[in-house]
Amino acid sequence: MSGCDCTTSEKTPLKPVDDALDYILSYAKATLATETIPLEQALGRVVAKAVTSQINVPAWNNSAMDGYAVRASEVQQEQTILPISQRIPAGIQGDFLKVGTAARIFTGAPIPEGADSVVMQERCSEENQQVTIQGQVAQGANIRALGEDIKAGEEIIAVGTKCLPQHLGLSASVGVAELTVYRRLKVALFSSGDELVMPGTPLGAGKIYNSNQFTLQSLLESLGCEIINLGMVKDTLDATCQALQQAADSADLVLASGGVSVGEEDYVKPAVEKLGQLNLWKIAIRPGKPLAFGFINKTASKQTCPFIGAPGNPVSLFITFCIFARPFILKSQGQIQFKPMLQQVKANFDWTRPDKRREYARAKLSLNEQGIPTAELFPSRSSGVLSSLTWANGLIVMQENQTVKKGDWVSFISFESLLS
Ligand code: AMP
Ligand code: MG
Repeated sequence: MSGCDCTTSEKTPLKPVDDALDYILSYAKATLATETIPLEQALGRVVAKAVTSQINVPAWNNSAMDGYAVRASEVQQEQTILPISQRIPAGIQGDFLKVGTAARIFTGAPIPEGADSVVMQERCSEENQQVTIQGQVAQGANIRALGEDIKAGEEIIAVGTKCLPQHLGLSASVGVAELTVYRRLKVALFSSGDELVMPGTPLGAGKIYNSNQFTLQSLLESLGCEIINLGMVKDTLDATCQALQQAADSADLVLASGGVSVGEEDYVKPAVEKLGQLNLWKIAIRPGKPLAFGFINKTASKQTCPFIGAPGNPVSLFITFCIFARPFILKSQGQIQFKPMLQQVKANFDWTRPDKRREYARAKLSLNEQGIPTAELFPSRSSGVLSSLTWANGLIVMQENQTVKKGDWVSFISFESLLS
């Protein structure tokens, strides 16, 4: 591991978000082992071996409609009457189509040899084993051609793709029943704070409920991680060191909430420095300035385990997770797409106080009267107001020193896009 690129003095300048993110991502390597699993277990997993089709899809020319398979050259009048020589439902290979006849055919059924088009049944009437066809038919009409979707030998899913339902369907459509994927990233998490108690127990004077553990755990679940939950940790150097070491020895990544500032009761920073190294902390972001990134030495080997320490304030925790930990996790899991998707929307607010720090402002996006996606901001900028995150459906990215006037276009990241 390279040395710290920063000192940890309190005077450390804030690192711009983009620099911090590039730096953190430079350590995210897809080095996880792979495993081959049944298709039905592969939803959300990241493909480690490209999927290639051994077959053409469709494997033969087939009918796109319920109707009648014909020779187009025989159906060129205003009205054509042809005897019906066979019936071909889906799954049945018909016979050679006798000259001067039509075959009753159904969607998905193979086109019989000799036929070159299908007339949809809405243009036909059938009586006494004869079909009357209205109008002409063009050659090739209503036929799905062999290999039109996929050619044999074609790569259909690239390495680094996260499996969505449609990838599983596509794999199945070429007969692939198993996928080789990266194993899940193991993430150990704990929450620091003497004030924390678990929901479901009485609160007690001076205490607060541990909400971060639930936010973090479900964020990790939504990214497909395997979770080692070490629970709550007291605000002492010993307890913090113990939790950090246990986490680092059992996981691919340690994620901690709280205790990362420089107060007398914040032990994460000194603990990381004692057990490994702190590479980065204090980022020019709002909310979430005290985000820590470093490495913990593993006990049993010379290896290190990356560490991300998120601020305890619930909103800071959520936002710093989404902006830093999420892409780090996705990239470590082998995913090629790990940056959040930005969308341009209209501001329904003024932002008159430019700031050196980039702000991720909680926002609610809806369609205005003209049907244009328009965002309004949550009235409070406090990083402790967790209800703002259920009010909002995404974040407006307020660039460093940016001001905004109502009606300007601004960048929006939806929560939905951050939760997978
Ligand atoms: P800290 O980062 O430890 O200085 O904590 C900052 C604020 O976040 C304090 O008000 C803490 O009480 C609160 N906080 C810390 N950890 C949690 C947690 N797990 N759940 C909810 N709030 C927390
Ligand atoms: Mg604390």
